[in-house]
Amino acid sequence: MLVINENKIADFLKALEKEYKVYDNRQHPPYGGLTAKKYFFPPVEETFVSEKKGSLKTTKFAEKFVVFGLSIPQLEALTYLDEIMTKPAEDFFYWQRRGNSIVVGLIKEEPDALPGGDIVFVDLGDGNFKILKNTEKGEELIKKYKSYFAEVADAPSKVTDPGMSEWSKTMRDILLDAELLANAVEWSKNHKIWEEMATTCLGCGVCTYVCPICHCFSVEDKIDLTGKCSRCRKWDACTLPDFAKIAGGHDFRPTIKERYYNWFYHKFVRGYKEYGKPQCVGCGHCKKYCPASIDILEILKTILGDYKKSQIQI
Ligand code: SF4
Ligand code: SF4
Repeated sequence: MLVINENKIADFLKALEKEYKVYDNRQHPPYGGLTAKKYFFPPVEETFVSEKKGSLKTTKFAEKFVVFGLSIPQLEALTYLDEIMTKPAEDFFYWQRRGNSIVVGLIKEEPDALPGGDIVFVDLGDGNFKILKNTEKGEELIKKYKSYFAEVADAPSKVTDPGMSEWSKTMRDILLDAELLANAVEWSKNHKIWEEMATTCLGCGVCTYVCPICHCFSVEDKIDLTGKCSRCRKWDACTLPDFAKIAGGHDFRPTIKERYYNWFYHKFVRGYKEYGKPQCVGCGHCKKYCPASIDILEILKTILGDYKKSQIQI
């Protein structure tokens, strides 16, 4: 098997810096709450720019970059985001960045199926990381920088703790039955839990911003004193007031209760109907950064429990 020794990782990344901008996620945990989606779908970006009358240019993103050190949920989330940014229509701006990037995972347990990324480093617990190549791009990178890697005899991993919290494990178990989850969340629209949530939730949108899969944005035109005009897109959040407000002042979801339920609906019902899976990987960021300590796992457990009981009564 191909491995890299832990002592060589820093040199490998240094060598990459000659050709790529390198974002080492081990240096930035927890990225101020923001996940790797910010590299491909930044919080604010210009899409079209007009410097002078009659000129309109699409913003080109040319920088080649490597994102290093993503965990299994982060890699999975990026795979989901790739799909969302491809269907039903390809997102030009997202794919400019994705096309220029190489994603390297850093995980503690060899998965049955690769969770995403171009290359994945699997910690063997003996100072070596096994290299799993997932794409041609990844394969080429390893070939080009082969002096940092070595072939060694296959050996079982000594890692005993795969580094996933109990919360994430439970959440990921729940996510496995996507159909049940979708049915339960759809059924729960009038459940009292949404009233209760509305008394706690601040409607701040943080859960959306820190979620590695949430991808709603709004579009805004800007003009400066030089006459430069730009059309920008910036992250938006369905939990924020005014998100569903339209011209004329009508708001489709004026209350926190409606907005918070909509967040769940989009993740667990629409996600399932459109992509066959929930838009959640159980990373726990939304719980960790929520200023009101709202725990989506507890909500899902309540809904699932009551949904199952309601089905028995029928
Ligand atoms: S982060 Fe918490 S308080 Fe803020 S909108 Fe999300 S659930 Fe509500
Ligand atoms: S656990 Fe929360 S932050 Fe993580 S993917 Fe699911 S909804 Fe998003």
